[in-house]
Amino acid sequence: MKWIPEAEAAIKKVPFFVRKKVRARVENEVTLAGKKIVSLSDVKATQARFLKKMSSEINGYRVETCFGSNGCPNRANNGEYLLQKIEKFIEKEDLLGFMKQQVKGDVKFHHEFKVTLAECPNACSQPQIKDIGIIGACKPLLTDEICTICEACVDECKENAISMKSESNMPEIDYNLCLACDKCIEVCPTGTIAPDIKGFRVQLGGKLGRHPKLASELDGIFNEDEVLAIVRRCVEFYKKNSKHGERFAEIFKLSDFKNFI
Ligand code: SF4
Ligand code: SF4
Ligand code: SF4
Repeated sequence: MKWIPEAEAAIKKVPFFVRKKVRARVENEVTLAGKKIVSLSDVKATQARFLKKMSSEINGYRVETCFGSNGCPNRANNGEYLLQKIEKFIEKEDLLGFMKQQVKGDVKFHHEFKVTLAECPNACSQPQIKDIGIIGACKPLLTDEICTICEACVDECKENAISMKSESNMPEIDYNLCLACDKCIEVCPTGTIAPDIKGFRVQLGGKLGRHPKLASELDGIFNEDEVLAIVRRCVEFYKKNSKHGERFAEIFKLSDFKNFI
């Protein structure tokens, strides 16, 4: 499809993360109209429709996950049911209604309360920049099973958290480096390294925008009920303290962490 230079220039001004989508939509609409050349007015018309659709999709919250359930081999823990429970809870909280009372003008995407789950520390769904980021975790434990000193666990650990103790030829895990990714457990042929705690790490208070902030992590690995309780307390805290559309990241301090666990 041919684009006139003005139309090409206009599409280049569309933010890069939606540009491909908008471009495809423009071409589709132009084709449906029986035309072969994209003009500036075609781009503007599609853009206006796209923005209208985006604003109609605002519902006050966003609950997302990574592609782990599509068969990703890196999953450290399955979070599908947890995510369903979180979505059910947040839906009932009417965050859109709350935001409409707080925000001057329209509630926009950047106001929404964002929860994401990544099923392993690779963090494809970007938990570090969400209000609540949940990461699937499986913490390893050394058992009494005899180690064959194959060193598969040492090779597999990307964090260099496993070393072989020279005096006993047994592996040693440095839990300060371990991200609970489950990989050493998977490769150990003898069961010398086994699952200890399977659950989720939780990070709070990440955001992008004018003043971006990375989330901070709560201490520990939590089970589904505990994560759900944390989400409940965070939403409660947010509704009690957020004024004029402030994001969760802007209203909590690290000293508030004890109130969320
Ligand atoms: S976060 Fe982990 S489990 Fe999820 S898609 Fe990425 S690599 Fe796979
Ligand atoms: S769980 Fe992952 S990060 Fe932790 S020791 Fe095993 S391989 Fe390393
Ligand atoms: S703990 Fe398992 S994977 Fe690691 S060296 Fe021993 S047998 Fe091999």
